[in-house]
Amino acid sequence: MLQSELFPKTRKEAPKEAVSINHKFLVRGGFIDQLMAGSWTLLPLGWRVVAKINQIIREEMNAIGGQEMLMPLLHPRSIWGETGRWGSAKDNPLGAKEVMYQFKDIRGREYALSFTHEEIVMDLLRKNINSYQDLPVYVYHFSTKFRNELRARSGILRGREFMMKDFYSAHTSEKDLMDYYNKMKQAYSKIFKRLGFEFKITEASGGVFTENNTHEFQVLAETGEDTIYYCDNCEWGENKEIFKGKEGDKCPNCRNGKVVKSKAIEVGNIFPLGTWYAERMRVYYQDQKGRKKPVWFGSYGIGPTRVLGALVEVSHDENGIIWNPTIAPFDAHLIEVKGQKSKVKSFAKETYEKLQKADVDVLWDDRNVSAGEKFADADLIGIPVRLVVSKETGNKIEWKKRDKEKEELLSFQQVTSRLKK
Ligand code: ATP
Ligand code: MG
Repeated sequence: MLQSELFPKTRKEAPKEAVSINHKFLVRGGFIDQLMAGSWTLLPLGWRVVAKINQIIREEMNAIGGQEMLMPLLHPRSIWGETGRWGSAKDNPLGAKEVMYQFKDIRGREYALSFTHEEIVMDLLRKNINSYQDLPVYVYHFSTKFRNELRARSGILRGREFMMKDFYSAHTSEKDLMDYYNKMKQAYSKIFKRLGFEFKITEASGGVFTENNTHEFQVLAETGEDTIYYCDNCEWGENKEIFKGKEGDKCPNCRNGKVVKSKAIEVGNIFPLGTWYAERMRVYYQDQKGRKKPVWFGSYGIGPTRVLGALVEVSHDENGIIWNPTIAPFDAHLIEVKGQKSKVKSFAKETYEKLQKADVDVLWDDRNVSAGEKFADADLIGIPVRLVVSKETGNKIEWKKRDKEKEELLSFQQVTSRLKK
């Protein structure tokens, strides 16, 4: 892609209202644009990153049997009435009126915009499940969620309209649900490792749905809104709502390690919901002996747009973003210096075309601006490898990694073989 054609151009200044790092760098770099508080356009660069995040999630969900589909976002009031979630939290602990966008159409019919999809999946299941032979079911989708968040100040970390991958599983027994739940926990760990995060899994209460705890995937980040406690020795972790101790305590699990306290960003959450939904929405199956039994249910969420913001929060320097190669918008950023000189221009063009042929996804800064401006933009956008061609580099290419100082002169072959590693 030619940088001269990329929409939009980078900005020198962050918007005045931006307080968080992800907001500043993602807007300046041209990854996202704010329509109003909590509502964002994913611009071409931002969409490239989110598409890569989604693909990693998709691969790991498919690997444990997930089937991707797409559910509607406009929901009738009746379905949310069945579980009581249409109501207000003031009247019942489940009430979700405070976060739901609810409205009437011109004929007085009532709707909500989707803030999650448990009820919708339950409706699908009761129409399509008869016997134990129809279970288990593993379905998921990527879609927009709408939540009337009180505070929408953390850039793209907390949107009022945001993307979620939500996965739902249905089972014949608690054991089958919990076996799958543990598989999901491992799949989530793989996803967050592939994304390059340093994260902890913390237990949180299951609320009204289940006596089991749920699990949150928390990225360690000074700027995170959550506070978590974890062991420096074993896998134990709890969020601050359920941990009764303090930092420095002996680990309640292994008794060897010490409890560490940290700020964190919740990027994923998994819920072993049990039969709560099936009982309220009458979702039954017949077991081998013909007895009617409620379906066991789990739900599993990740917010790809929050992941985008979290990656910036934990991976940047004072000049801009530092993408990890697996989710970077491009593999390499090719920069020509003093490209007006026809020799450098034609060598840059040749290099660009050869890189594309070698299947390297490259952004070529072909603009007629100063070297300083190009380097500053390259640091801001944060593509992992910068390739410079100039009068000085001759028929070689200067290679520099975004997170390293060292510059090296390499041949085209060396460049492609390193990029292909
Ligand atoms: P939080 O406690 O941060 O408000 P939550 O626990 O309400 O989030 P879940 O319902 O568990 O969120 O949603 C699953 C995932 O969706 C979260 O782990 C997060 O990655 C993402 N997510 C939730 N709310 C938002 C939001 N307002 N903006 C962006 N992503 C979100
Ligand atoms: Mg959560």
